Amino acid sequence: MRLLLIEDDALIAESVTASLTGAGHTVDALTSAAEAHGALARERFNLILLDLGLPDGDGLDVLAALRDSGDATPVLILTARDNVDDRVRGLDRGADDYLAKPFSLAELKARVRALGRRSQQRTDDRLVLGPLVFDAATATLTLHDEVLDLPRRELRLAENLLRHGQQIVARETLDAQLFGFDAVGSNALEVYISRLRKRLAGSGLAIRTLRGLGYRLEIERS
Ligand code: CA
Repeated sequence: MRLLLIEDDALIAESVTASLTGAGHTVDALTSAAEAHGALARERFNLILLDLGLPDGDGLDVLAALRDSGDATPVLILTARDNVDDRVRGLDRGADDYLAKPFSLAELKARVRALGRRSQQRTDDRLVLGPLVFDAATATLTLHDEVLDLPRRELRLAENLLRHGQQIVARETLDAQLFGFDAVGSNALEVYISRLRKRLAGSGLAIRTLRGLGYRLEIERS
């Protein structure tokens, strides 16, 4: 998934980013409410991790603005505020879950998985097309029951193509999902597409390029 982390504590931001990147996600990290408002107006994320005590404002205002704009992206609040009132206010304003600092990275990852499932409205963690299966709980991709040991971005690419079934995925969507704010319109995406095509060669699946539209994972007709 593509995650937005809004957290001004550099140590927490670093460990959360490392942990969730290691779990196969793309993490964009911001440190202020102003940056968060800007990013949320422009970009789409699968999940937002939101600190409440930001240097230039209250995270709850970021959340309120998001919900007022009709955006239902799941929000997990991370905060040192430990009282029940804050928790209730956060949930009242549309947060999906709450994690009090200090938290364990294992618990954070479990909450992220749960919210990811909820946002996809799936009861099952598996994405399947023909012989290709992505298991979101373990971030494992298998082809004909054999595990494909792929680098993180190739794995994210396969996950995103699978998530759309046999529908076209816009190039911009894949760029954002793989590179986050680092997506700068380079040709990097083509490199990953071409690597994944090689992995899928002979499997009965193909990644088709639709000029000007995007890419589509397809079952090849024999
Ligand atoms: Ca803070």
